[in-house]
Amino acid sequence: MIPAADLEDDDSRADVSGEIRLPATLESTGPVPARCEIAIVGGGVMGLSIAYYLAQRGLTDVVVLERGYLAEGASGRNGGGVRQQWSTEINIRLMQESVELCRRFAVDLGVNVWFRQGGYLFLARNAKEVARLEKNIGLQNRCGVATRMLDPKAAQAIVPEIDITGVVGASYNPTDGILFPWPFLWGYARQAAAHGVKIFTQTAVNTIAPASGGGYTLHTPRGALHARRVVNATGAWSPKLAAMLGVEIPTYPIRHEICSSEPLKPFLKPMVSELSSGLYCSQSMRGEVVGGVTIPGHASTYAMGSTLEFLATYARRLVRLMPILGDIKILRQWAGPYDQSPDGNPILGATPEHPDFFLACGFVGHGFMMAPIVGKLYGEWLTGGAKHEIFERYTLTRFRDGASLDAGYEKEDFNIG
Ligand SMILES: Cc1cc2nc3c(=O)[nH]c(=O)nc-3n(C[C@H](O)[C@H](O)[C@H](O)COP(=O)(O)OP(=O)(O)OC[C@H]3O[C@@H](n4cnc5c(N)ncnc54)[C@H](O)[C@@H]3O)c2cc1C
Repeated sequence: MIPAADLEDDDSRADVSGEIRLPATLESTGPVPARCEIAIVGGGVMGLSIAYYLAQRGLTDVVVLERGYLAEGASGRNGGGVRQQWSTEINIRLMQESVELCRRFAVDLGVNVWFRQGGYLFLARNAKEVARLEKNIGLQNRCGVATRMLDPKAAQAIVPEIDITGVVGASYNPTDGILFPWPFLWGYARQAAAHGVKIFTQTAVNTIAPASGGGYTLHTPRGALHARRVVNATGAWSPKLAAMLGVEIPTYPIRHEICSSEPLKPFLKPMVSELSSGLYCSQSMRGEVVGGVTIPGHASTYAMGSTLEFLATYARRLVRLMPILGDIKILRQWAGPYDQSPDGNPILGATPEHPDFFLACGFVGHGFMMAPIVGKLYGEWLTGGAKHEIFERYTLTRFRDGASLDAGYEKEDFNIG
């Protein structure tokens, strides 16, 4: 993780011409202001994306409160994968827009996020998995995503290092990609701060209570803040924050481990993911192979330690898939929390009990890639613009009475890699 002080010195800005203003300092110091229009709790990618889009639309009386440093949570610990291969139309369409925002990020926000569209290659090892991919491809194609089904040899033509023994088919979309997560956060943070948003790190929200006369009072070590509206963007900690207001959120933290190898000569263009094992790996711009694997059956936990079980499972799966990596050295291993929702979809919008308390949580293993579009849509809605259908579909109430599940609500079943 990068300490806050180092953020000031990074030189990852894109070489773009003069229009973009970057603030001299990113983070605010001293006490929090007495009042603000919107307080965003959580300085991960979701909170910062929302802050940026609010500010971009002129709502700058916004305060971001992060208990640690920016990217302390899942946002600083993920694989940076950005894909449009999903199983529901709404998620495919959201991700089409998010990919477009990722493509423009360096120019729009002045930070190079090393976005590379090398594609995503999903490998199937049995007929059931092939059928699942084919069904998704049909829907993706109808939405305008150029995913195609490949036979094993065609998959191997894309990544010659893959051993296709036991592989029976693959799906491939060339416009999926990967990016470097940290500068993505810095881009949002810098631009939000440049527009006047106050970002406080090392500032935990310890309590929230409804204030007499409306809004909420948030207590932090830097003093109390009255906010007319609050956004809960605390990722896997969202249930804890919501519980301070008596709101129950059915998400729970699941530890996901990931690791990074010594740098190798560039050889791996797409993100490769195996449906059966949940193995995924990509190669960073620095040459490291970055990847993980699903370890089923783990209890919900906030523990973020690393395990030998993960390393052994990952190594076995990776070397079965790409025997050429048998001698590769793993340099770093870490873990982060998925904010697991019961149906694999996020929870958005206001809560029925508190119409000025908004949720941006339950993003499981895809919150990074969805942050650009979710932040943009939240920015529009909370500044008086259009309310996108995601705020009607992905409500908290869908879990309470099953109503929206019964009304044709689609469950996302492609939470892989
Ligand atoms: C190993 C791994 C791999 C992943 N791979 C991908 C991927 O390839 N692509 C993808 O799109 N997604 C991926 N994800 C998921 C993605 O990282 C998350 O969905 C996303 O980062 C969530 O962002 P967030 O801002 O909601 O939460 P977070 O980044 O967790 O931010 C929440 C913040 O809230 C702060 N906070 C908590 N409580 C308080 C409080 N009381 N007061 C103040 N601050 C508080 C925390 O310190 C934290 O910084 C992966 C996740 C993991 C763990």
